Amino acid sequence: MAYNITLIPGDGIGPEVTEATKRVLEATGVTFHWDLAYAGNVARDMFGTPLPDSVLESIKKNKVALKGPVTTPIGSGFRSVNVAMRKQLDLYVCLRPYKIYPGVPTLFKDVNIVVVRENTEDLYSGIEFEQGAPDTARLIELILETKGKVIGGDTSFSLKMISQTASRRIVKFAFDYAQANDRKKVTAVHKANIMKFSDGLFLAIATEVAKEYPNIEFDSIIVDTLCMQLVRRPQQFDVLVLPNLYGDLISELCAGMVGGLGVAPGANLGDDIAIFEPTHGSAPKYTGQNKVNPIAMMLSGVMMLRHLGETKNADRLEKAIADVIAEGKNVTYDLKPNVPNARVVGTSQVADAVIEKLEQSNHT
Ligand code: NAD
Repeated sequence: MAYNITLIPGDGIGPEVTEATKRVLEATGVTFHWDLAYAGNVARDMFGTPLPDSVLESIKKNKVALKGPVTTPIGSGFRSVNVAMRKQLDLYVCLRPYKIYPGVPTLFKDVNIVVVRENTEDLYSGIEFEQGAPDTARLIELILETKGKVIGGDTSFSLKMISQTASRRIVKFAFDYAQANDRKKVTAVHKANIMKFSDGLFLAIATEVAKEYPNIEFDSIIVDTLCMQLVRRPQQFDVLVLPNLYGDLISELCAGMVGGLGVAPGANLGDDIAIFEPTHGSAPKYTGQNKVNPIAMMLSGVMMLRHLGETKNADRLEKAIADVIAEGKNVTYDLKPNVPNARVVGTSQVADAVIEKLEQSNHT
């Protein structure tokens, strides 16, 4: 069986990590029909827009995409290609598993946390009021009228929106994921002690949804306490479910704990569409240098194989990657082992080493 996958190399370091990932995925023996689609700076240069309709059409048709990072354009009509893509395809889940592979340089151990981040609302709703603008003056008046609070005319606002609907579907996803992946606990993250209505609603819905899953433990934690507990005793956490902003920040913290952006994979999911992509961005300063780590994107490819039901091949590829990391002889600069004379290799050499491990596993 062959899978039709939309392949978006992106820009900056995107094409290099995408090529490395495509090679290792093909080396598993699974057959893919890659439907190449251009987004980001490459698409802007070719078609005059960083997100041509053809990209969205291809994803809607194939339902599964593998995507490299794209640079957020500055000073164009686009806030962000990624945000636009997530909104237009209603990809309401950002799923990011963080685990420590032996050999990765890190201060932490035994971390195995899945971050489930809400992708569509919160402070990322895009509803903002600029200081001095007429609509901002009306908002300031409304606040005075309804809340009795005096606010200076030199103030800007970004609206934090949390709805029952979005909270319910993300928490349900977190529990369904926990159930399907033999996870024991879901923790809802919030700041409901201060934001009683927005975060309070998220927490209330999470508590309500948890009752539908009596076999999975549920608890909640205030986001600042979570930060402290994550660095003190990360082993106590299993699946975390968070509104958009906390999800963004905690993802980055967890990525740092497990070895950095070079090993942090991810997926953006809707009800029937899935885009697999690393957490990291396009790191423009490293473009074309065959330098950065392709493992975050390769592990996103492992997630894609699992999504396609290719469990055995996903396990084989993950093990091949883990073996390359553990051996420490063919890793990029960010995973340089802390031993004398350790050498590092480039992006494509990591792919060569993973393919070699896959080939060895064919003969054992
Ligand atoms: P970045 O993740 O691109 O890079 C930050 C730093 O992290 C790099 O300088 C590098 O030191 C390190 N790094 C990143 N990826 C690495 C890898 N694979 N291997 C080794 N080291 C790696 O973040 P940035 O510089 O803030 O963003 C650059 C651009 O990417 C911006 O335009 C941003 O908006 C965009 N971005 C895109 C996505 C996406 O497409 N999903 C995600 C995040 C950022």
